[in-house]
Amino acid sequence: MAADLAGMTGMNAPTQLLIGGQWSAGRAGVLPVIDPATEDPIAEVANATVEDALDAVAAAHAALPGWSATPPRTRAECLRRAYELMIADAEKLARLMVLENGKALKDARAEVTYAAEFFRWFAEEAVRLDGMVTTAPSGANKILVLHQPVGVAVLVTPWNFPAAMATRKIGPALAAGCTVVLKPAKETPLSALAVAAILREAGVPDGVVNVVTTATAGPVVAAMLADPRVRKLSFTGSTEVGRVLLRAAAGTVTNCSMELGGNAPFLVFGDADVDAAVDGAMIAKMRNGGEACTAANRFYVHESVAEEFSARFAARLAALTVGPGLQDGTDVGPLVNADTRSKVATLVEGAAKEGGRVVTGGVAPDRRGYFYAPTVLDQVPPTAAILSEEIFGPVAPIVRFTDTDQAIAMANATEYGLVSYVYTADLRRALRVSEALESGMVGINRGVVSDPAAPFGGVKQSGLGREGGHWGLLEFTEAKYIAVDW
Ligand code: NAD
Repeated sequence: MAADLAGMTGMNAPTQLLIGGQWSAGRAGVLPVIDPATEDPIAEVANATVEDALDAVAAAHAALPGWSATPPRTRAECLRRAYELMIADAEKLARLMVLENGKALKDARAEVTYAAEFFRWFAEEAVRLDGMVTTAPSGANKILVLHQPVGVAVLVTPWNFPAAMATRKIGPALAAGCTVVLKPAKETPLSALAVAAILREAGVPDGVVNVVTTATAGPVVAAMLADPRVRKLSFTGSTEVGRVLLRAAAGTVTNCSMELGGNAPFLVFGDADVDAAVDGAMIAKMRNGGEACTAANRFYVHESVAEEFSARFAARLAALTVGPGLQDGTDVGPLVNADTRSKVATLVEGAAKEGGRVVTGGVAPDRRGYFYAPTVLDQVPPTAAILSEEIFGPVAPIVRFTDTDQAIAMANATEYGLVSYVYTADLRRALRVSEALESGMVGINRGVVSDPAAPFGGVKQSGLGREGGHWGLLEFTEAKYIAVDW
């Protein structure tokens, strides 16, 4: 199987655990990796047990003193080399990602570039971990503040951005002087292992980056969180699993950064440039085939432009080519697995029953692979169940509104708060609405917000903490205060 993979991608992707600088077998044998476009296995990767995971924690713990004492410039140069190696191998990595995740090759290419940018950005941040010196208000002493690495970090990542979610955590962790154990999603272990191989080639010392792939995420992550040598959890995934991990981390009072689910509203006001709004909607909805935490999940459109927006958006979605990600001309690949597709189908059926009008799509094509047609549902009632769930597929429910306050209230009527999108020609309104929206990020007349230089993260039950920018680096540090009378 590995030979086929090498033929299809041009690279020999590692399939074993990486522990203390050694590629090693998992004590629980292997687990299959499935191509969502064919439903066939494409590789087998090592299946780690709790013992393997604790070996990885021990390796990360042993490497911590050396790495945290390594000059920031040296740490930065490792990350910079990793960036360059990743860009040099971008096409191979993109093809590997398509095979395990299903996404269209153009989405995979975009992800590899985005993922590599986190290494470049945090290479630049590694030498800028400024502290502070100030005089105490009483004048009696000085206040010194150092940012020290938090320690061994467990990084748990999802399947939807298998490279970028890893680099967005590994980059700042290594820049800050932490060592890590990465636990990627079982659906997409190959991209994570390939990123780890690049870091090794870039000169990252043994034990600084460890990777455990496993079919039993629950017990493996729980065991690592129960180990007092682990001082940090950085998790990206669903809110449901995030809650479980926050409870587990409470046992050892482990520092947590949580990037959880989203339910992004996309607001189109009556004065918006409808062409620009449709362009933005295509990106906000269809980037990654809709399998993004930032995906526009609910379209609130002013009734004066709703008919036009819905017709044009549906025409654009209907013109997309759905097919295997590596096939020429494919715009939208399959969903990641059968469960995701049946969840999407159930949500669409439910919304149609509740009064939504299917303008385009609404079906799973009759073929092998976990495909679902790009779908627009218009005139969805504001109470429909689809609006309160993360769809995670190429489905756009449209709700019409008449009044700005009503639109804001509907946009905020969710437990999530990751990102919102606003389309209007009136900058004053755009900023007022942005301030009122309960989300960590807002795109104004833009369908994408992700940027390694910006603080990415959510409010409410979309998460805790930020990734990217300088904020992402600080998440892997603890402030140490030293009171000194000199
Ligand atoms: P998931 O929560 O099912 O899994 C995420 C990771 O947690 C995987 O590595 C999985 O193996 C692991 N996991 C699952 N159950 C676990 C358990 N009981 N204990 C420990 N680990 C466990 O999420 P997913 O389906 O892989 O990814 C989709 C979700 O991720 C969506 O909700 C999406 O919004 C979210 N996401 C959020 C962001 C963000 O930055 N906010 C980015 C990407 C994805």
